[in-house]
Amino acid sequence: MASADTTTASSANGHSADGAGIPVDNPATGEVIAHVPDLGAEAVADLARRGRAAQPGWLALGFEGRSRVLLRMQKWCMDNAGRIVDTIVSETGKTHEDALLSEVSYAGGAFGFWAKEAAGYLGDEKVKTSSVFVKGRKLVVRYEPLGLIGVIGPWNYPLTNSFGDCIPALAAGNAVILKPSEQTPLTSLLMAQGLHECGLPEDVFQVATGRAETGAALVDQVDMVMFTGSTATGKAVMERAARTLTPVSLELGGKDPMIVLRDAELERAANAAVYYSMQNSGQTCISVERCYVEEPVHDAFVAKVTEKVRAIRQGDPSGGAGSVEVGAMTFAPQVDLVEAHVEDARRKGARILTGGRRGAGRGLFYEPTVLADVDHSMTCMTEETFGPTLPIMKVRDAEEALRLANDSPYGLSGSVFSKDVVRGEQIARRLQAGSVCVNDAMIFYEALELPMGGWKASGLGSRHGADGIRKYTARQSVLVSRRHPKRDIHMFPYRKRTSRMLGRMLRFLYGRGDRG
Ligand code: NAD
Repeated sequence: MASADTTTASSANGHSADGAGIPVDNPATGEVIAHVPDLGAEAVADLARRGRAAQPGWLALGFEGRSRVLLRMQKWCMDNAGRIVDTIVSETGKTHEDALLSEVSYAGGAFGFWAKEAAGYLGDEKVKTSSVFVKGRKLVVRYEPLGLIGVIGPWNYPLTNSFGDCIPALAAGNAVILKPSEQTPLTSLLMAQGLHECGLPEDVFQVATGRAETGAALVDQVDMVMFTGSTATGKAVMERAARTLTPVSLELGGKDPMIVLRDAELERAANAAVYYSMQNSGQTCISVERCYVEEPVHDAFVAKVTEKVRAIRQGDPSGGAGSVEVGAMTFAPQVDLVEAHVEDARRKGARILTGGRRGAGRGLFYEPTVLADVDHSMTCMTEETFGPTLPIMKVRDAEEALRLANDSPYGLSGSVFSKDVVRGEQIARRLQAGSVCVNDAMIFYEALELPMGGWKASGLGSRHGADGIRKYTARQSVLVSRRHPKRDIHMFPYRKRTSRMLGRMLRFLYGRGDRG
């Protein structure tokens, strides 16, 4: 991608750089492919003013008018799929398939989903009341867009994560400023260009490129922050937002466990373990990060997994579709962290069955790695690794697996593999995680109807489903009194007789124990 693209995109945003530009690398080659502006607090405040000015016009289009733009953008994504894939691959180092199947496909689905479902999720809801004092009144819950939403995104899925949260925020009638990761800003700029071409009114969606300071400045300006990233940064964002009492929704890190029971279909479990731990070079918040396998099938499972991981082709993904299964990693410090986790495990007695080394050369590669004989004294089992590694631990039984799976500060997702789907589900329900699967993992993310959010240190709030759009709104309860006396019975002046009568009524209503 030429740097001319970034110039177009930033001028589409109506601003220019007010600091040193940020170089964007291709992680597979180490080559600098573009520079983007590093926006300071003033530039962010200017974007916020523009966004606020544009928002009422966008809201006035109504759900139908907004849907039309979103559906045009859905088609634009498909018409420009090749360009989007190339941009994602160039700035993340991920494979063609990871960009197509986990990003472009998600965006295509999401534009259609929110275009169709926004009105239903945000339509007025009639409410019936059990209160005798309110009976007969019209009661309605309604949702009003908050105004200006700040979305701060990570580098692992520049389209699905950074940009994906913008779609429901826009569908709800908000203006949005997206602060993409400084590692991967190009996809967001391309999407801004697409929205512009699809008729989104000027300034309704803007991209604030920059680093941590730009993100912090954005928190100060907006009516709500949707943050996706590490738990440490999520805490900093929440702390900053507290100063202005700005609501936040946080999608944070994970250490997702997979449990393989003795009656599992081992071939499927092994394929799932390999794919869901290595896909996207293991840089997915809901990757399988650790695996617990019941003793009777442990060795067979480990053998299958090791054979499959050895067969993975890793390399520069620029060869296009079908060329490699695992590409580069995206962020240099992440390769150091993966290496540190593997070395810590090796020192403490783990066996490295395949992989276990970083790649040579300028690209950011770490070999797909399987670790056995691991335990919870090792960081690879307790801290987020976020790389192409799969540590596998032998357990006595399902209870031990559950205890270890829940022995984590995180709670994003988890999975259980068993031919007995009833028992599998019983065990999955006992996982302390926001999303759980039986004989599957990660794929729940594709069901946009299903809320997805973390327990414990994995987050606050959720995306997808009703909450995934209502969080971008202020809820208003409306009560309308249509037919009414001049004075209600509970109003002034208080009279002894009336109060006694009301007391008897309360005893009748609530004093009969069995009737509640
Ligand atoms: P990160 O926390 O380092 O950065 C995320 C974003 O926050 C970046 O845009 C960054 O510039 C910005 N930022 C940094 N400091 C800031 C501050 N003080 N105020 C405001 N913004 C600030 O995360 P990352 O390394 O880009 O992403 C990887 C992490 O994201 C992993 O932990 C992964 O598990 C998590 N993640 C979670 C989900 C989820 O849905 N739960 C999805 C994807 C990634």
